[in-house]
Amino acid sequence: MSALSELHNEIAVCQRCDLYKYRTKAVPGEGSENAEIMFIGEAPGWHEDQQGLPFVGPAGQYLDNLLVSINLNRGQVYIANVIKCRPQGNRDPLPAEISACRKWLDRQIEVIHPKMIVTLGRYSMAMFFSGKSISQIHGTAQKRDDIIYYAMYHPAAALHQQSLRRTIEEDMLKIPSLLAEAKNIVEAEPPSQQLGMFE
Ligand code: URA
Repeated sequence: MSALSELHNEIAVCQRCDLYKYRTKAVPGEGSENAEIMFIGEAPGWHEDQQGLPFVGPAGQYLDNLLVSINLNRGQVYIANVIKCRPQGNRDPLPAEISACRKWLDRQIEVIHPKMIVTLGRYSMAMFFSGKSISQIHGTAQKRDDIIYYAMYHPAAALHQQSLRRTIEEDMLKIPSLLAEAKNIVEAEPPSQQLGMFE
């Protein structure tokens, strides 16, 4: 069994916070273990709780369309959430739930080792960009330890607020060039092997 499937199985039976008492299914994540891009949303909603898969409701259909706009599909990326079980009534996740679940996200990042992490919405953004507001930093990237972190609005926000649609669609279109740039940086040869530089 792959490291990712083993991790998904552990998450499926997690009881690290009280949300397990109310879930139909935990929602570990979906996609390729070799994904270069990892998308991180907030928490499962009703549809996701029923199916055990992330972003399968209306916001998920919109995310699928955004992926198509950059010639990608779900099988080529990895999609996860900050919180793996649905908060009752789709309330906001509590700080204690976020910290109980953090271990799973850290392990997902370790196993997948993406080149780029795209945060969707403010809960996910807060885990990687401290003290910032989403209106300031959406569509901007930071590179730390070989990973590009890129903040976007949550697709559900764009569904409910027409004015954000164009913004989120434009932000999505910037991903391929950021990824290409990240690849160039990561794959560059060490200086000693670059002919001519030290001769
Ligand atoms: N919203 C999220 O943040 N995650 C999902 O999986 C679905 C909707």
